[in-house]
Formats: sequence, C-alpha cells, structure tokens
Amino acid sequence: MATYHLWTVGCQMNKADSERLASGLDFMGLEQSDDLLEADIVILNTCVVRQSAEDTATGTLGKLKRIKEKHPDRIVGVMGCMVGPKTDDLSRRFPQVNVWAQPQNFEPIISTVGLALGVDYEGCLDNLVPGAPTVSTFVPIIHGCDKFCSFCIIPYRRGREVSRTVTDVIHEVELLVQRGVKEVTFLGQNVDSYGHDFSPPQDLADLLYSSEQVAGLERIRFLTSHPSDMSSRIIESIRDLPKVCELVNLPFQAGDDEVLERMRRGYTQAEYLDKIAELREKIPGVALTTDLIVGFSGESEAQFEHSLDVLRAVKFDKVHSAAYSVRTGTIASRQYPDDVPIDEKKRRLRAVEALQDELQSEINSRLVGQTFEIMIDGHSRGSHTGRTRTDKLVFVEDIELELGQFVHVEITEVSPYSLRGRLTEAQIVEAITA
Ligand code: SF4
Repeated sequence: MATYHLWTVGCQMNKADSERLASGLDFMGLEQSDDLLEADIVILNTCVVRQSAEDTATGTLGKLKRIKEKHPDRIVGVMGCMVGPKTDDLSRRFPQVNVWAQPQNFEPIISTVGLALGVDYEGCLDNLVPGAPTVSTFVPIIHGCDKFCSFCIIPYRRGREVSRTVTDVIHEVELLVQRGVKEVTFLGQNVDSYGHDFSPPQDLADLLYSSEQVAGLERIRFLTSHPSDMSSRIIESIRDLPKVCELVNLPFQAGDDEVLERMRRGYTQAEYLDKIAELREKIPGVALTTDLIVGFSGESEAQFEHSLDVLRAVKFDKVHSAAYSVRTGTIASRQYPDDVPIDEKKRRLRAVEALQDELQSEINSRLVGQTFEIMIDGHSRGSHTGRTRTDKLVFVEDIELELGQFVHVEITEVSPYSLRGRLTEAQIVEAITA
C-alpha cells in the first residue's frame, strides 16, 4: 500500500487544510506514514508569515531533493501560503516538486496522486471532511485577505478573500457533528469579512444564525476578527445565539495612532477602544483576546507605552505578542526601515508579558469559587482538561469523564494561564446516577 507523509507548519488554517487533505488521501486507500524520508508521497503544508518559517520549508525541500535523486518515483507536493497564484518561479527553483497547490485547493494534489497510482480520484474530492475529528474542530470558512496591512505577506500569498457558501459550511458542520464533534471554530484570516464577496452580500452573523440550527452542535467559536469589520450585527448575534461562545479575538497590533497608520490597520486607538466598549456593553461576561506587535518600524518608547496603555485599559484575557520582524515582499519591507534594535524589541516583549501576567492573574483570581460549564477535550498531567465558553483551560481531577462531556466545575485554584476545578456536588450525583 502506498504511503503518504503530511508535513504541516503554521496556523490553524493549515492544520485544518491538512486534516481535509488527509481525509481525501485516506479515501484513496493510502496509508499515513510518520517518516518524511520513507513515504511514497510527501506533502509540505507551508507557512510564510515569518521568513524563518519559509526557510524551514525550503530546507526540507532540500532534503527531499536528495531523496528524489535516489527515488525519482516519489511524489513531492507543496501547498499552503508558500504557493501563490503563479508557480513558474517556484517550479524553476524547486524542480523536485511534482505538484503545487494553493491553500484549500486540494484538487491538484489529489489528481496528481490519483493519476500516479491509477486510482479514480474524482469521488475523493467531494466532502473533504476529517474522518476522525476531535470533539472541538476547526472549520475554514473564508480564505485570503483584502486588508493589506503593511507588515503582512498573507494577502500576496493566500490571495483575495473568497468565502465558502453557507450551504457548504453547514453541510460540513452537520457531517462533523455526525462524527462526534460538539464544538466548531470557524476560521478565516479576517473572519468578520465572511460573505462580503457574495452577491447579494451576506455576513458572519448569517452563518452563525444558520449554524445555531444544527442539531447536536453545542458550541460555536470563530477566529480571527478585524476591528474594522466586526459589525454591530455580528456582536448582537454573539449576544443572542446561545451556542455562540462569549469570546472575541480582536487584534489591535499597536496602541499608537501613528504606528497604526504605518501598519495600515485602518483604525485609531480610540476607534478600537470604542469597539471594545460595544462588545462589553452588549455581551455580558465576554472574554477578549488580542494580538500585538512590539518594535514595529519607527515605534518610539512613548508610542510603545500607548500599547501598554491599551493593555491596562482593556485587561485582555490573553495576548499573543510578537516582536516585529521584516517580511520580504510586504509594504513595510519596502517603505520603512527595521530600526528598533533587537534587544529593545525583546525588552518590550518582556514588558508586555510581565504586565499581561499581572492582569491575567487578577482576572483569573476573581474566578475562584465560581462555577462554570466546561467541555472535556483531553487529558494532560494526570488530569482531565476542558474549556469554559470563554476558552479558559481548566484542569479537573475527580471521577472518570469522557471526551466531549459537558460538566459543571467549581474553580479552586488559578494561575495566569489556566484554572483548576472540581466537579460540583450536583454534577457528581448526576454522573454517579447516570
Ligand atoms: S488583516 Fe492584516 S494582518 Fe490579518 S491577514 Fe489580513 S493583511 Fe494580514
């Protein structure tokens, strides 16, 4: 039996794509292999957000070149963000690659493999849905991005926004639920822009309303939002739909207006804070997470302080922070010098992390003694793990619990990053008598 190895790096979008491609290859009768050097078919699912990620992919392609020289019949495919609309240049640089595929475009890989193995691949292209999904699963709903932030390469590699239809997404969610999924996270580089490319346009709220109707689905989340596209209608749908969790990831990237302008983010600090105020006013108990870049071109100490001001003002539940690094091919790489020294970037990053640790400790300490519903989604360090609706990680000991089970826990201990809880008495009685 022919074997395949799927090498995946990058974000949840890539992981979701790899799961879908794997389901198609499994359907063709191929067997998964852990060994990149031994598999008959090797597919690299690449990320180019940082230069280092792209360098890792090209290094792996170097290894595969040597393998192909010894075994010319092996098939090498590359998908993900490294592959733009035109592949002539890539084909010249990497002749060892048999097939290139842009994100979410599985057909070139499936057909190349099908033709090489003499397998009828047509039926394998429909409904590429993970065969054994986890209880909480990612579902890509919009690909590409139209925003062109000056530091970001994504729009050049993933292309312009293309949404999947509501019918298509709902069909996939129904199949996932039949396979045991309880929670879906809708994914997009800019998920709030979902449906704007339809005629007439639709929006994310339309998809959330339709998803709410899927029997057996318990929770709905979505990532990643953009402050300019998070409409009042979307916010009100989070408030009004019981299955949609009270959690919003709203990147602010910088707290200073001049830096935001150079980043081409399309909003000011005040507009960002207004959006946060609307979220807090309309969705009681909403949890907020964000993304922040420190040390962007020209960011002075005073401008960096404005980012800390935003952290103090909002008190996010979690912050994904990163030091700015130049990405070749972006507007920033052409127009702005990378002039904040690396040691200074690291210092700013440490300042963000220290402040955020303090804030998360303060937020989580208020949860001790409170009761939350969590969905059990794994085991770690001798405990069950689960997530609250607001995506707080909770460790639970106690009696035997199953993946996908919903239980009520009382929080007993907290750290800035996770909670520990025990089943409520009523929950224990329910579990024992069930
Ligand atoms: S919104 Fe900006 S940072 Fe996000 S993917 Fe689009 S261009 Fe990149």
